[in-house]
Amino acid sequence: MMQRCEICQTSFTWKQVSKSLWLAYKPIACPACGKLYKVQFLSRILASVLLVGPIFAFSSFAYPISTYALIFSVLVLFPVISLLLPYILRYRLA
Ligand SMILES: [Zn+2]
Repeated sequence: MMQRCEICQTSFTWKQVSKSLWLAYKPIACPACGKLYKVQFLSRILASVLLVGPIFAFSSFAYPISTYALIFSVLVLFPVISLLLPYILRYRLA
């Protein structure tokens, strides 16, 4: 699931990718060979859609929108999606 380095096949760590995500897609260096990877443009779009989409969808279904439903969806969905994103994001050699 987690992306591997194209050069040495070393798997990136969840922590590494997660950190990159929170630092505005900071490039990742392979833990073994040090090759630099940048996030793919499409992954970046996907991440934004995945983070905002479900919250938007949830608040539309929970009509009339209650503040509690919105806060709940943000509190539940946001961490879950953030946990899963490092498995979904793809990087390419910089
Ligand atoms: Zn490597």
